Order: sequence, then C-alpha cells, then structure tokens
Amino acid sequence: MDTQERLRRLPKVDDLLRHSRVLEMLEDHPRPLVLEVLRESLDLTRKRLIADERASYDEATLLAEAETRLALKSLPSLRRVINATGIIVHTNLGRSILSKKAVAAVTEVAGSYSTLEYDTASGERGSRHVHCEELLCRLTGAEAAMAVNNNAGAVMIALAAFARGKEAVVSRGQLVEIGGSFRIPDIMRESGATMVEVGTTNKTHLRDYENAITERTGLILKVHSSNFRVVGFTQEVGLSELVELGARHGVVVFEDLGSGVIIDLRRYGLPYEPTVAESVATGAGLVSCSGDKLLGGPQAGILVGSAEIIQRLKKHPMARALRLDKMTLAALEATLRTYIDTEAALAEIPTLRMLVMPPAEVAERAAALASRIAEECGNGVETDTAGDVSRAGGGSLPLADIPTTVARVKPRSFSVTELERRLRLGEPPIVARIKDERLLIDPRTLCAGEDAEVVSRVASVLSNEA
Ligand SMILES: *Cc1c(COP(=O)(O)O)cnc(C)c1O
Repeated sequence: MDTQERLRRLPKVDDLLRHSRVLEMLEDHPRPLVLEVLRESLDLTRKRLIADERASYDEATLLAEAETRLALKSLPSLRRVINATGIIVHTNLGRSILSKKAVAAVTEVAGSYSTLEYDTASGERGSRHVHCEELLCRLTGAEAAMAVNNNAGAVMIALAAFARGKEAVVSRGQLVEIGGSFRIPDIMRESGATMVEVGTTNKTHLRDYENAITERTGLILKVHSSNFRVVGFTQEVGLSELVELGARHGVVVFEDLGSGVIIDLRRYGLPYEPTVAESVATGAGLVSCSGDKLLGGPQAGILVGSAEIIQRLKKHPMARALRLDKMTLAALEATLRTYIDTEAALAEIPTLRMLVMPPAEVAERAAALASRIAEECGNGVETDTAGDVSRAGGGSLPLADIPTTVARVKPRSFSVTELERRLRLGEPPIVARIKDERLLIDPRTLCAGEDAEVVSRVASVLSNEA
C-alpha cells in the first residue's frame, strides 16, 4: 500500500470523538485537553506512517497514546511526594508538613468567608495581625508579634524599618548564605542599610561592636549561622552582651534565629538550639524566625519583640507587600495553638513528631518495611535493616546526627540507581537515598499509610522487571 493510501485510513478527530474510550476520557477531562491529545497522537501516527512504509494505522495504539498523554497533562505540577530520605525539614520537598488541625483550619477558611480583617464584636474592620499575635506572645513571652510571608521577608522589613539610610552592625562570622540566594550582605543592600562588618570570620569581640557604633547606627544584627558552624579557635558575642551594648547606645538589637524553636529539644536528645523565648527573655528588642522550619507550621516569617518595635513594623509600607494570606494565617494559628500543650505539640505537629520519634518505633517500622518488601518481591531483592542518620534539614540543627534505622533494598536483576529512578518517576514520586549500592528507606519521614505504599510500589517496580 502506498503512503498516501495508508494516510487516508487515518481517522478524523471527529470520528475519534465518537469512540467509547474517548467518551470516557471526556467524562474526566476538559474537552480542549482531549482534543489536544487526539491531534497530537494523530500527528505522531502520521509521522510514523510516513517514516516507515511497513507501518499501518492501529486504533488501539493511537488511543493508548492519547490516554498516556492525557494522564501526563492532567498531572498537577505541584503534588504529593513520599519523602523516604529521613531529612525532616526537606527544603526541596516543601519543608514542614502541616498537622491535621492546621490542614483542617486551612480548608475551613479557604472555602468560606472569614474573620480575616473583620471584628465580629464591633461589626467593623479588624486587623489580620490579631489572629496569631496573642499566641506568639504567650509562647515566646514577647510583648508584641506579627507574621509576614517568610523569614527572609522578616529580616528585610526589620532592616528597612530600623537601618534604611543608617548602619547595621553585624559580625563577619555571621554573614551567611542560607541557600536559595538568601545572603545576609545582599539583603542588607536591598533594604537600604549600610552594612558595617565587625570582627573576623572566626572571632568577634564585644569591643569590635563597641568601636563600630556611631550616631548613624540603626541596628545591631545577630544572625544564627543555621547551616554551618565555625569550630576551633572561635568567639562570638552573646546576645546578652549585645543587648547591654544596645541599651547603652539606644540601638535596637535584632536576632535572626533562623529555625526558631519553641520547645527546648535537649530533653529529647537533640543539641542545644536557643528557643525564641530565651532570646526574648535575654532582652533582644526584636527576634525573627521561620514558620516552616523546626516550628513545623506553614511558610511564614515570625517577628516578636517590644510593642514599640512591632508597631513600627506593622506600619511600615513593606508590611503590606509581605502580608500573609488567610490560608497561611489559619495554618499558623492552628499550629501555634497546638503548642499551648507541649505534649500535644510533640505528638501532633509532624516536624516535631518526626524529630522526637522513639528509636524503637523507627527500628520496628524499618524491620517491617524490609520484611514486607522481601515477602512481596521474593528472589528479586535482598533486604535488611541498618543503623543510619536522619537529619533535621532546612539548615536546622546541622550537626545533629539523629540516629535512625533504615530499610535497605538491593535489587538483584537491575541497578539500585534504576530502582531509585523508577520510584522517583512513579506516582506519587518516592524520594529515597542511595548508599553502598542499596536504596535506603528511612521510615522517620514517611506519613501514615505511606509505609504500605512504599512496599507496594517497590514490589511493582521489581515485578515489572521480572
Ligand atoms: C532559613 C533562614 C532564613 C530564611 O528564612 P525563610 O523562612 O526561608 O525565608 C533567614 N535567616 C536564617 C538564619 C535562616 O536560617
């Protein structure tokens, strides 16, 4: 049959639209998308027929092609991932996941009108700041508080409000890059503050700060070094000394805590991390932290401090540009509310629950994962468990090796990188680490129901290969 003849046998889009499989596609998908994939699949078939003279049109192949394309186009870009890495605040996977209560609070206000800026008592306009302020004050001991879009924004507005056209004094040991292009010197420049660096990379003394203070000083800034540590011959000036210095010169002391913990985690075997309340008690005029790192809430920047300082920030024009959306406010309020009861916070806020998960629980789940994968896959795999480390992630507690137990999977018939790739490309994507030619599954960061999902996905990847 010549090419023209074979091409003539191709159906028209309108013919395809009557096919039962296409009618099914139309039930679940918008018509423009279905038309698009039918045209694309017809195009592809036409090219194949032209390229290969032995090829002929096959309806089932074309429809399967269209269905695959439709499934891909309908997949949301932003979607769930199974985190088997053991990195709790995994920045690329969305940092903290919300508690059930926080998710419920988001759902409630997202689909209804709300008291976002409405005071039911007076029937008049209210302020969106009220929803979290009291809780933040209660949990940190601060006089006043506000929340903005993220901690980068919190640092930015604080610098703009107190050091624009003035000088901000900061130790050279704290000029950090947090990742994602957040660099303290750049933020300084963008906020209109002149950065005055004091000390050296490893050592800064109180007299270095003292010598740098002039009548142009607007702010003393202390930055948590987050994702790195200076070790060895080092010296930092403590917050209390800076507070005393600031008071003597009438200069605001602002501490960017980065992660911002509410509960002292030393009781759970984790390294010391200053709580927001400690910084407030030490006398910092202003303290900032992230909402979605160790606090375990939504992306937000939290600012707590003296009433006068917070009032200036609330009135700053940048406050409007950085303000929180109602969904975020709902999640933040629900998360903070959970902290009123420490035990509830540790049990219900996923980031905290994962951080303090008892070693025996992790070990038991890892053993169950290993044995169930072995059962499902028979001779296709070698599995066992091994001690390893989980990480807090997100630049938090960088030196904390959190002892964990992982399930290890080694496929027999293909490489471990291929197993990793297939799990990552499946739906939902499963992200796991490779070490010593084995895939590591850390149960610590798996959510409820995901242990079973991982088992069946590993089994299906391995059985498709057999
Ligand atoms: C993470 C971090 C930031 C940025 O916070 P985001 O909430 O990601 O904007 C700023 N400063 C420090 C010290 C941090 O650790």
